[in-house]
Parts: sequence; C-alpha cells; structure tokens
Amino acid sequence: MAHAVKELFPDTKFAIGPAIADGFYYDFDCGHAITQEDLPRIEEKMKEIIKANKPFIRKDMPKEEALNFFQESGEIYKVELINEITEETVSIYEEGNFADLCRGPHLESTGKVKAFKLLNVAGAYWRGSEKNKMLQRIYGVSFPAKDELKKHLEFLEEVKKRDHRRLGKELDLFSMNDDIGAGLVLWHPRGAVIRRAIENFWLDEHCKAGYQILYTPHMAKLDLWKKTGHVDFYKENMYSPIEIEGLEYEIKPMNCPFHVSIFKSHLRSYRELPLRFAELGTVYRYERSGVLHGLLRVRGFTQDDAHIFCMEDQIEEEVLKVLEFTLFVLKTFGFSDYDIYLSTRPDKYVGTDAAWEKATGALEHALKKKELRYEVDPGEGVFYGPKIDIKVRDSLGRQWQCSTIQVDFNIPERLDITYRGTDSKDHRLIMIHRALMGSLERFFGVLIEHYAGAFPLWLSPVQISVLTISERHVEYCKRIIGSLLAAGIRADMDEENEKIGYKIRKAAVLKTPYMCIIGDKEMESNAVNIRKRNGENVGEMSLDNLTTFLKDEISNRR
Ligand code: ZN
Repeated sequence: MAHAVKELFPDTKFAIGPAIADGFYYDFDCGHAITQEDLPRIEEKMKEIIKANKPFIRKDMPKEEALNFFQESGEIYKVELINEITEETVSIYEEGNFADLCRGPHLESTGKVKAFKLLNVAGAYWRGSEKNKMLQRIYGVSFPAKDELKKHLEFLEEVKKRDHRRLGKELDLFSMNDDIGAGLVLWHPRGAVIRRAIENFWLDEHCKAGYQILYTPHMAKLDLWKKTGHVDFYKENMYSPIEIEGLEYEIKPMNCPFHVSIFKSHLRSYRELPLRFAELGTVYRYERSGVLHGLLRVRGFTQDDAHIFCMEDQIEEEVLKVLEFTLFVLKTFGFSDYDIYLSTRPDKYVGTDAAWEKATGALEHALKKKELRYEVDPGEGVFYGPKIDIKVRDSLGRQWQCSTIQVDFNIPERLDITYRGTDSKDHRLIMIHRALMGSLERFFGVLIEHYAGAFPLWLSPVQISVLTISERHVEYCKRIIGSLLAAGIRADMDEENEKIGYKIRKAAVLKTPYMCIIGDKEMESNAVNIRKRNGENVGEMSLDNLTTFLKDEISNRR
C-alpha cells in the first residue's frame, strides 16, 4: 500500500505502519488530501504491484547508513524513528523500486498477497500527540484467501449497521454535540428510560447483595487528590483545578476517596467488616480528543462503582461473591460468553510481597472455586494490587472490557484506613474496587451494538405500541393504553391519521418489541391481536391476559 501511495503521490513521507488486531494501517504525510474516493485508485496500483510479483528483500544496515539513506530521501519520520532505535543495525525491506524501514518478517514476494481491501481514511497525529502534525491514515485488511476477505467484509457491514452512534440517532437514544463539548453525553428520553431500567436493576440487586448505597459530590479539594496519590500517578487524566475562595478544587476522576471518607467518618469495628459501599458515581477524565469515540470513550461518565472494605482473610470470600454477582449481571444483559484475566504483580508496586502473594492467591482460589476458565496476565496488575478483568463477547463475538475487580493495598496505607480488631487495637484493612458494567455510558454503547438496537422487553423505551386503524378506534385504544400504563407497562399509541402499514413500519424502525392493531373486529371482541417486531404473530388475547403476558416477560428480564 505504501508503495502504491508513493507511486501516485511521490511527495509522500511515511511515518508508522503496523499490523493491528484487525488489519493494518499506515500513516502518511502527503501533500494531497487522501479521501475515501482515492482508495480504489490506490487499490488498483496495489494490484499492479502484486501482479509484478517482486520479491521482498531484507537488508540489515548499520544505523548510520540507514540514517543517511532515509535522510537523502527526505523521510524525516523514519529518521526520527531510527534515532530512537538502540540496536546497532536496522532492517530495511525492498521490493521493486520501493524500500521501507521494517522489522519484518515479510511474504516472499508481492504476488503472495491474495486478498485485500482498503477500508477507510482517518486523521492521526504523529506519535498520537495533538502537539504534532496531523497525518493521514489509511486502514486496510488482508487475507490469504478471497472468501475469508468476503466473510470479513460482511462482518464489517454488520458492525456498521450496529454502530451505536448511528442507532443512537435513529432510535433517538442519545446525542453529543459541539455546543455541549466533546465526549459529553446527552441522554434523550428514550435512552434515559433504558438507563433508568438499568439503574433500578442495579439498585435492587446491590441492596439484595448487602451493599450500602452512597451519593458523593462531583469535586473535592486538590489536596485530597494529592493525599490519594492521584496528582502524582493520574495527572494525565485529570482536568486543571478550579479556584474557590483561594482554595484549589478538582473535578473527580474517581469515587474512591469519597467512599473512604465515609468509611472513616466513625470508628469501624471488625464486626462491621466486610463493608460494601456502592455508588453510581459520575466521574470526569481527560481523554484526548483523538481517542474519543461515541459512548465508548467519553470525558464524563457514570461508573457502577463499589468499594469493599475487608480484612485480608476475607478477600477470597468477597471476590467469590463479586464474581457470582458479576456473572449474574452480565447474563441478565444477554452476555454468557466472556474471557477472564488475572493480572499479577507489575515491576513497580506498593505493598509487601507477602500481601501480594496472599491477595493474588485469593483471587485465583475464587476463580478456581467457581470453575471459571481464566488467563494469567503476568505483571499486568495495577501498582496498588492484583486484579481480575472480565471481557464480555457480544453477539458478533467482539470483546469488550466491562467488569473489573481490583485489590488495593495502597489507598488504605495512604489514607490510613483501619478497623478496631478483637484485640481492641487498630489494624490496616484491604480495599477492593469493583465495577460490574464499568461505565453506564460505555455499557449502553455496548448494549446498543450487542442487541442491534432491538432491546429485550424489560429495557425497551416503549414496550408496546397500540396502533389504530381509524379515528373511531381512538377512544377504545386510549382505554387500553390507560390500563397498560397503570400496570407499569411502557405503552404508547399511534393515533395519527396514517395508513396502518405506515404505522407498523414506524414502530418497526423504532424496534418496539410488541405492537397491537386495533380495528372494528378487536373492538367488538374486546380482545387484542399482538405481533412481535420481527413480524411474528403472537395471537389474540384479552386485555387482562396481555398485561400478564407482558409483565411476566418484563419481570423475568427475558
Ligand atoms: Zn475505587
């Protein structure tokens, strides 16, 4: 691809072009603004290069020689990269009249490329920093066989159809705009209904599981964030402080210190442990504009956060409970496929080796007790403790990081959190941070894509639409709506003076799970005829039976 771009736009300078999880990209500095329309042209050129079947030749060059080589051809980005390489020699791959800095390996020759497609064009800062020049990036994908490429392109089509930004607009769920600011989410009424259903479920289940619910402010004095270590370790993701009456305040990037403060508001006995504090806590983190992405990466979001304060020998039991709770919650949202990772001690850490060993062992025991398959990520723990991450797989098999369970030795030490033991002395305790859905915004984005906007009944903004065939059915429909609403069912009515076919399509576009059509026949028989959003007919039932039927499906969250 780089060779083809160079042929078409000779002034192009090349930056970085790696293979990534789902294809490849290359960043260029090119005088011509490459657009989607240029891609077929580049593809044509690539086909010519492939057809020529030129061998890829590897040359190992002393660094100095490589520097001269790229300097002469004006490849300033390559020069910068080579200067950072610590090895004595670097490798260059050559094919026809094109050469590039590359670690390799490569195919034998260009003719070995069997199936490829350039997907899209994007802007990307050199080295990902907004202080540097904006380069142009082309994404592509390649497969050893044409049918594999075809399958992948179909998958991408399905991904596009499910894009939560597109569905968010079509289904009127949420929006984000420049007047409000990047990465800040507006939940529209239909989206807010779903959030409320999620929050109600969250609240009920947390109360059942022995959590106490908290509310805490959105900012706190900067000094607090110094004490917790956030100013030292998390500064990158925090906003500049604001001044109030001569004191600096910081909008919160995390909820932890507030929960600690409530824990410390009075003396805690060992009898109170484990103590579980939960909050739907809204936090604000500085994400660079380049990485913002719909609901998946935002600047303000609400975590389903909780902190468990416990003694060291209670970790295993608590983690076991959290694991069961997490899997139950994920299953309720239709995720039964997930990957679990256990991250162990990194190179830089706080806490004693013995404590790390004990905590990591406790996490591992809990996973084994639940007979869960997991992978160990050696050294990938946070500096303050080991953790378990759970990534769900959605209906397209894509992986999403949602749940995390983290043991923390650091905050109890820094903020001096203790409990009064049986010996009437104060002891250090362990804190567990955990989030099941992660952030409500992100989880909502994942749900939209997972369900392709066709939410299960209990989450649907409108659960049943009542459609009138003509004016004379309106009164009767209003009675039906009234009794459905009174039973707590989210029903709406389409009494517009439109053809019934149009009304059905309208409800189908909004992916309303059920609709019923009311005409003369239904009025006479005092019954309703229900159909599903996929067109399937459920059949005729009395109004009482309809209510029972819907309530059963809603309360079982099927
Ligand atoms: Zn926390």
